[in-house]
Amino acid sequence: MITYTISMPEPHTHLFHVTIDISEHTGDTLELALPVWTPGSYMVREYARHVESFAVECSGQPLTWQKTDKTTWQIATHGNSTIRATYRVYAFELSVRTSHLDDTHGYFNPATLCMFIPGRTDQPHHVTIIAPAGWRVTTGLPAISDHGHTSPRFLAEDYDELVDSPFECGTHRLLTFEVESVPHEIALWGYGNENEAQLVADTKRIVEATRALFDGPLPYRRYVFIVHLSDGIYGGLEHRNSVSNIIDRWTFQPTRAHERYLGLTSHEYYHVWNVKRIRPAPLGPFDYRRENYTRNLWVAEGITNYYDNLILARGGLITRERYLETLADDIVNMQSQPGRAIQSLAQSSFDTWIKFYRPDENSSNSSISYYLKGSMVALLLDLHMRGRSNGTRSLDDVLRYLFATIYGGVDQECFYDAPAFAEQGGFLKAIEAITGNDDRFYHDMLAYATETTAELDYAAAFAQLGMQLVWGHRDGQANGMAPATLGMKLKSEQGRVKVMSVGRGGPAAQGGIYAGDELLAFEGFRISEEKLQARLTERQPGDQVRLTVFRGDWLIEIMAILGAAPFDTLRLVVDADATEEQKQRYRHWLGL
Ligand SMILES: [Zn+2]
Repeated sequence: MITYTISMPEPHTHLFHVTIDISEHTGDTLELALPVWTPGSYMVREYARHVESFAVECSGQPLTWQKTDKTTWQIATHGNSTIRATYRVYAFELSVRTSHLDDTHGYFNPATLCMFIPGRTDQPHHVTIIAPAGWRVTTGLPAISDHGHTSPRFLAEDYDELVDSPFECGTHRLLTFEVESVPHEIALWGYGNENEAQLVADTKRIVEATRALFDGPLPYRRYVFIVHLSDGIYGGLEHRNSVSNIIDRWTFQPTRAHERYLGLTSHEYYHVWNVKRIRPAPLGPFDYRRENYTRNLWVAEGITNYYDNLILARGGLITRERYLETLADDIVNMQSQPGRAIQSLAQSSFDTWIKFYRPDENSSNSSISYYLKGSMVALLLDLHMRGRSNGTRSLDDVLRYLFATIYGGVDQECFYDAPAFAEQGGFLKAIEAITGNDDRFYHDMLAYATETTAELDYAAAFAQLGMQLVWGHRDGQANGMAPATLGMKLKSEQGRVKVMSVGRGGPAAQGGIYAGDELLAFEGFRISEEKLQARLTERQPGDQVRLTVFRGDWLIEIMAILGAAPFDTLRLVVDADATEEQKQRYRHWLGL
């Protein structure tokens, strides 16, 4: 038996108190280890740095221990089989991948609180929560006893399930709905401009639309949405039968802002199938004490990113027109990243541990997001499949096939015992199972799109649906020419205009402007972000301009030659002379 008791006697101290009771231990030493990361958020976060007051005893007698590495405690058990370890964990970081305890709630990811016993992670783990009076506990784990909400007990079949089940303890609202008689709960912490009835209705439609895509029963017995309404924080973390989402409390109105909630929820919920069940081999079972590498994270995140808004459109939660706008924005964004010529999609997946989660001023110059490019590759795969099969095959079929091969006839709770697709060639194999070999078209396309940094051919893909791309400039000149640009990103900080990043090889970079410079004047006149934009519209590409900047405390003047701005708007339109077959593919793609 491995039993955790987690209490929060003084929430304002942000300290969770953890007790682990272990029985049936054999041997003279016992190791306890805390994960350094939590699945779905691929960065080593060193959760052990928040552990304090570690102690261990047997029948009231203290046992000695020592740390053997940053995250492992080794206990001298002297042959005792029943051991109790206690420690506290400081939890005051409000994010979906950490833990947060204050007077209003106790939220935790078990990876941050619950040490595991190497070699015994496949055994059942019990969790008892002792929460302040009046608090309730919500988690995806099944409750095995409930003492009037004050110390409910939960059961995880193994440590993986425990890590995959965040807890929300507090006075949160609990909204409920059912889909196919399967209960769904929304645990809502905080208040904002949400409308409870609409929140339930929208979330339910996302569940229904995603289930419709995968065309089968829901692959869980109960599902929990933990939703934190916060101030300016945005993010989600997927789990097997639950999710943690955090979003700004004022996100729910007007409609455009509400799309952020819908998009986040749709994205994380799609992960129920893609990544929590359909996964490349390195993504489970996990080594919790180090990085777990895969070159296929783009399949997990990019394909999910492709489907999140598409499902909203198919489910009628956003209009088809709006969907095409969001897709066009993504293409514009992708084509504005200089790093797409430096880092391949497979490299981006592999290096997420040191790059994606650690962005800096050089990131857009040297790397490409596997979410963004991954969704572009998913789009291109989908459109080509629809075209080349004359509308009889699509990426939907590949995902359904992968799910069926992994979960067909397999118990829904077996998880990491279910097969993963092979890291090398596994995803291609699934595509070819649906499309046939097709002259190695998809083999070559995947090799090109994931292993090289060559440009993606959007036009050829959209042509399959009789569509074309119409590029333009948001602030185009009257003569139709491209506007002038300096090729850098700015941010205003307490009235100061700071250079956030400088596009590699662009006008600002060539003129010698650095990230971090404070922009003071343009041609001798003080500027703001808006004023600079206005002055640039009065200039032509090729004009030389004088900029005054502070670099630290050093005042300097920089001459820069303005460049021509790249296209920054895109419309995706159905060709006037598209064939009836192409129009049919288009309608089918958008679920019309
Ligand atoms: Zn995701």
